[in-house]
Amino acid sequence: MNQFTVNILCKELGIEEEIIEFVNDKEKLIVDKVEEIERIREYNQYKVIAKMQEAGLSSMHFNWTTGYGYGDVGREKAEEIYSLVFNTDDALVRPTIASGTHALALTLSGILRPGDELLYVTGAPYDTLQQVIGIKGNSAGSLAEFGIKYKEVDLVDNKIDIDSVLKAINKDTRMIGIQRSTGYSDRRALTIEEIGDAIRAIKSYNTDIIIMVDNCYGEFLDYKEPTDVGADIMAGSLIKNPGGGIALSGGYIVGRRDLVEMVAIRSTAPGLGKDTGLTFGTTRTTLQGLFLAPHIVSEAVKGALLVGAVYKSLGFKITPDLDDKRSDIIQGVELLSRERVAEFCMGIQAASAVDSFIMPEAWEMPGYEDKVIMAAGGFIDGSSIELSADGPMREPYYAYYQGGLTYDHCKLGVYKSLNNLYKKGLINLK
Ligand SMILES: *Cc1c(COP(=O)(O)O)cnc(C)c1O
Repeated sequence: MNQFTVNILCKELGIEEEIIEFVNDKEKLIVDKVEEIERIREYNQYKVIAKMQEAGLSSMHFNWTTGYGYGDVGREKAEEIYSLVFNTDDALVRPTIASGTHALALTLSGILRPGDELLYVTGAPYDTLQQVIGIKGNSAGSLAEFGIKYKEVDLVDNKIDIDSVLKAINKDTRMIGIQRSTGYSDRRALTIEEIGDAIRAIKSYNTDIIIMVDNCYGEFLDYKEPTDVGADIMAGSLIKNPGGGIALSGGYIVGRRDLVEMVAIRSTAPGLGKDTGLTFGTTRTTLQGLFLAPHIVSEAVKGALLVGAVYKSLGFKITPDLDDKRSDIIQGVELLSRERVAEFCMGIQAASAVDSFIMPEAWEMPGYEDKVIMAAGGFIDGSSIELSADGPMREPYYAYYQGGLTYDHCKLGVYKSLNNLYKKGLINLK
């Protein structure tokens, strides 16, 4: 590292020299893993461009309509491109989908009917979905209130327990839910191969069951997506991976045409479906974000690896482990104390370009069971493809690190968080 860099880190950004040395030394541990990430990035970059070309994307598509939004060719083009990239019949991609939770809630409530059963096979779903399903918190408007039943089968050794899943299937099981990413748990993300194996086993047992994948945080981590290995319907957020840090808002649902239509009807109204809905001029940023996403995701994953390498070297348990195949952008670190989680998150906040002076505090976020501390200073509010960290204040005090639009920014986040822990005497460098 040259003197200019050391100077700005020490003098302007307040990092101790020992921390700079420590982080740069641990960076050597990730070199070979970075190569594979870059190969995946390269493939996905070409894939996205090839699909934009195949769809005949043109600058004309960046115009937009008003009122009902009938005949918005840009909206239709963005949806066509999403369906090509994710290898599905159809797609719903809208800036008016407020979040990943909204995209998933539309998917569940659009497809399931009273008396149907939803079976989650990756253990308890992401916190916010538990309220959607009606198994936690205030269940007003939940699936349970509409007479949709729910069951779950836990993972065993971080794998889908196929035998128990097949036993749990009954005549009402209409949909099986698979969550690819870690969420707020201590398991690693499921790989595409594992998801594909589970789907094959379920489909050979019963072809009619709809397989739904929550792909949040998983996009562009591998050569394939869950829809390449048999998922019928899949949803995610545009302020995570596929928005590339550029999309202002939005969510996507991709999958079988009949299912996407049911979701579209829930999102607007019966009879309207996909044919209405304004883009408010967001088509260009939605697609530019998708274009950048493979690159941005690779930067974020490299950052996650660095976090993993640094904290593993300090003796903390990390999820995923350094040698695990990555299938989401999250790096969990078991920090074992409330103070460490808080200092870690404050360090990430202090590394932000935006709102670096804010002190994050644990608060009761809507949709979450425990208090959560969140660190994020994004150009897009709440965008977790940007450098961010959070931790629910519960044992064993995991901090979840994710995002970062550039690797250097990720690295600054590592410096800052480690520096905080070091200065408070909460870690031992040797
Ligand atoms: C982020 C996420 C969601 C949805 O979260 P939003 O904050 O509503 O976008 C759902 N499932 C998983 C696994 C997630 O990581």
